[in-house]
Amino acid sequence: MTAVAEKLNLEERLKSIFGDRVRMDRIECKMYSYDVGALPGLVKPFLPVGIPSGVVRPKTEEEIFRLVKLAKEEGLKLVPRGMSTSGFGGVLPDNGAIVVDLSGMNKVIAIDKENLLVTVEPGIIWEALQTKLHRAGLDLILYPTSLPSSTVGGLLAQGGTGFGGYEYGLFKENVSEATVIFPDGELKTVSKEELLLYIADLEGITGIITRITFKVRKLEPEIHRLVSFTDSQKVENVLEAVRKADLPIWSITLQNPQAMRLKKQIPIRKGHPYEERNRRREPELPETYVLLLAYPASRRKDIDPGLEQMIQEHSGVELSEEAAEHEWQERFKPMRFKRVGPSLIPTEVVVPLARLSKVLNEIDEKIKHPLVLEGMAVKGDKVVLLGFIPHDERTFGFNMAFALSLSVIEIAKKHGGSSYSTGLYFRREAKNVLGTERYEKVKNFKERMDPDGIMNPNKVLGRGVIDTIMGTAATLEPIIRPFANAATAPFGEAVRQGKKKGIPADVAYYATACARCGYCVSTCEQFSGRGWESQSPRGKYHYIREVIAGREKFNPETVNNFLLCTTCEACNIRCQLDMPVEHNWMEMRGTLIHEEKRMTFPPFEMMAASVRGERNIWAGKKEKRANWVPEEIKPKIKEKSDVLYFAGCTASFVNTDVAQATVRLLDKAGIEFTYMGTDEACCGIPMKVAGKWDVFEEIFEHNVSEARKRGAKTIVTSCPACALVWKELYAELAKEKGIDYDFEVKHYSEIVSEAIKEGNLTFDHEVHQRVTFHDSCHIGRAQGIYEQPRDMLKAIPGVEFVEMEHNREEGLCCGSVLTLVGETPVAPKLGGNRLQEAIDVKADTVVALCPCCQVQLRDSNIKNQFNLKVTDLARIAMEGLGYDIEDKTEYSMEMWGYFEKFIMLMKPEVLADIMASLFKPMFDNMPSKMVSMMKAMKRTPGGLAMMEKMMPTLMPKMVPDLMPKVMPDMLQEVSRRVGPLPDDMEELMPDLLPKTMESLMPNMLPLIIPYITPKMIDYIQKNL
Ligand SMILES: Cc1cc2nc3c(=O)[nH]c(=O)nc-3n(C[C@H](O)[C@H](O)[C@H](O)COP(=O)(O)OP(=O)(O)OC[C@H]3O[C@@H](n4cnc5c(N)ncnc54)[C@H](O)[C@@H]3O)c2cc1C
Ligand code: SF4
Ligand code: SF4
Repeated sequence: MTAVAEKLNLEERLKSIFGDRVRMDRIECKMYSYDVGALPGLVKPFLPVGIPSGVVRPKTEEEIFRLVKLAKEEGLKLVPRGMSTSGFGGVLPDNGAIVVDLSGMNKVIAIDKENLLVTVEPGIIWEALQTKLHRAGLDLILYPTSLPSSTVGGLLAQGGTGFGGYEYGLFKENVSEATVIFPDGELKTVSKEELLLYIADLEGITGIITRITFKVRKLEPEIHRLVSFTDSQKVENVLEAVRKADLPIWSITLQNPQAMRLKKQIPIRKGHPYEERNRRREPELPETYVLLLAYPASRRKDIDPGLEQMIQEHSGVELSEEAAEHEWQERFKPMRFKRVGPSLIPTEVVVPLARLSKVLNEIDEKIKHPLVLEGMAVKGDKVVLLGFIPHDERTFGFNMAFALSLSVIEIAKKHGGSSYSTGLYFRREAKNVLGTERYEKVKNFKERMDPDGIMNPNKVLGRGVIDTIMGTAATLEPIIRPFANAATAPFGEAVRQGKKKGIPADVAYYATACARCGYCVSTCEQFSGRGWESQSPRGKYHYIREVIAGREKFNPETVNNFLLCTTCEACNIRCQLDMPVEHNWMEMRGTLIHEEKRMTFPPFEMMAASVRGERNIWAGKKEKRANWVPEEIKPKIKEKSDVLYFAGCTASFVNTDVAQATVRLLDKAGIEFTYMGTDEACCGIPMKVAGKWDVFEEIFEHNVSEARKRGAKTIVTSCPACALVWKELYAELAKEKGIDYDFEVKHYSEIVSEAIKEGNLTFDHEVHQRVTFHDSCHIGRAQGIYEQPRDMLKAIPGVEFVEMEHNREEGLCCGSVLTLVGETPVAPKLGGNRLQEAIDVKADTVVALCPCCQVQLRDSNIKNQFNLKVTDLARIAMEGLGYDIEDKTEYSMEMWGYFEKFIMLMKPEVLADIMASLFKPMFDNMPSKMVSMMKAMKRTPGGLAMMEKMMPTLMPKMVPDLMPKVMPDMLQEVSRRVGPLPDDMEELMPDLLPKTMESLMPNMLPLIIPYITPKMIDYIQKNL
């Protein structure tokens, strides 16, 4: 069998187990070939790792069981993976291995409240488990600093501890049993003893953990205290004293003076103006050693008196409660220093508490770079030290400076400590980390159970060139150290000038800086609808790194990965480096689509034609844009006014109830306003997110000039995206162009909630509904408007208001517009996730204030067969004032139905089909010489095969000339396929379709050719 056939055969066999949860394409596989650690370029080539040949995402033990059987039959290597947040190379795949991504096995199997135990699948993320436990009145006994992203199985397999380690020790010590699938295919629930010997800390080399039962504790309010010490000896002394006195403290963590100093120098994200206005004031923190202590409030009386005395005795200074809470909130960000690298040289060791001060002093003495250290006191007499030196992997000096990570390990070993873990990079330390006796037992076990080495090869026990290199470097450490210390890098956000392989400089910098911590992955809307790393922010930054390294070039599929992002901005909030993640994808749209003229999602070309001709995206006629205005409001609209109501496209043409309710509300609140009427144009956001920035610019100029004509100073919108555009995107463009721009921008909910507060508006009709509120991303995370819509709802008598699990800053995105347009079948999954949260809190009505969210949520409501009511905020508010505004649900679904038909129509395979139905008029209109040539080729043996090969060259030459000639036939064919359209759309189509095809074809043709070529050859054969 050829290699290709073998791969196809394997793919089929994997699909028979995992269905569509298998990927074997190179780009996706690359996304599973890295972890948090980054070795220097000079060392990387010696690592026994590569790109996996496939990735599978099991959901059940049965699937893993079948996979192991297949692996044995086919000699496959399997690499278990949680969320890849470890940094010792344990999750890096052997070239050609199959990565087993366990993050989809993420259920809580049982909670035993009586015995304080929980049983989970291995892929559950600590944070998700904590939320579930909190709901049951329970809490985690301990968790790693990577709680927002790492998995329970990962911590057991990697070995480790975290917050709570002072009371509970290492995680493995708290696990009562685990179920494992061994390399020989046996599925076994192992006892604690077996687990401690053959499973924990072993990075999956002995089997895949599928279930874990471990201790939990009762949820209690917690006390956090922050104490400063001027030298390391005092820190050691106080920790010894606390230990000896057996104070029942739950968690003790430590930061060194460098950490306290350098974190003040990390820049904040230049976010939205409201974020900058509302940024929390950072407390003044000393640049000393600082201990952060946490314990349940119920233990205060057992801890506080003794602790206070010890702090005093050892000259500690207790810092303010505000400072303690601040540090507690910031505890999940140990890698934030990468923002000023863009790289970090990591090191992680375990040292005896009795030697802590000596270790810290020796590190200070020997390492001249700024070394940020965070420590965790662990039950017994150990302290885990995690260190980072900010550096720049783009410089040669990084290769030298990296040796300092070994210096720290050597210092720790000298004082009776060890490396924290083994993985791949430190497997030569395995005897030291595991202990010689355990090491030998594990080795024998592995040889017996896995003679073919199918489970995570090369990790923990292996030996190779990399170990020799690391060993030599460790031996020569004293000689290398002066050079390593001399190889400094500037500290700061070192964004280089210009573009790097076409990537804007700031995006390139952030791609390198991304810590790969994965905090942004599970909450990313784009990722959660698909489950593949390429669809996550972490994956996208990795892809950009590959492009910068010259190993990848953008293609239509990878461009789409950047377009599919819903712009929800959850990633901005989650990023521990506080990077402008979503803003980077917006910049990439400008680069890829606007500058490089690559293909955007095809339906946006039709929207662009409609926006340019009719100033709206819905293919409605511009002269009908103001038809929604209620008769009784018309006379009240001023020709000129300080306040201008901007309705936007969807509220003007589709969900007209939104605009109607809004203007009535404004009127009731006593606001005088003007309106652009038929002169209003789309705000342009669809063009901005589609990368069609030239159209966006035209719109900007039009709308700003129309607003000025009417004397507007304040723009009021009902659509969150329109507000964002007027508030920020137009303002940025105006700044770029040097135009004065000083509009104040408000969402109507801000005005109405203010009117309610001031007693200028009172709802006097009861609305009996159990209501929840969907925070639109563009008004929430992008503008910080969370409370005003809630204030409105709560002011309506009869409304029973409930919150969904994710609300305000954490609110889930509805899944519109990019996914709805770009990958329509995924959109109802995302909308379904959101609506399910409403069902979970037993709401009967979901209130949204964004017309586009409403379309998406209504569509998802139907497609998921939910029975919720989705309504508009202004509309329900008008009900509270006794008005019954016509419900536009059905109409908006009908309009969306036409939209959806066009989306489906613009797929390459469908367009090929449409073009094939036009062969007759195409050939009739072709130059006669061309037709003769084709006839001649048909008669020539092998001619048609040659013709087939020529199609990629011929088609782009033929189609632009032919398209206008066959357009009447194309219109007919399109009309036949989509069925009757609304009258205005039908009338506009002869104008819109040719313009759409003209913009679309240069990029679309190469995608159509593979589909159309066989059809054309067939046509020539039969009809010429
Ligand atoms: C910001 C940050 C903070 C961190 N803080 C801590 C900390 O406080 N304490 C700490 O100990 N570590 C910490 N780490 C390291 C890392 O997060 C932990 O080791 C974590 O437990 C790894 O979980 P994971 O799901 O990412 O596993 P992965 O990195 O995916 O895997 C880790 C190892 O376990 C194996 N593995 C994963 N799942 C299974 C399974 N089900 N069966 C068998 N083998 C499996 C993998 O092959 C790999 O060898 C931190 C990392 C980051 C980025
Ligand atoms: S903006 Fe939302 S969808 Fe886009 S990458 Fe960030 S989290 Fe994912
Ligand atoms: S983008 Fe931020 S949160 Fe996501 S992996 Fe990178 S550093 Fe972590």
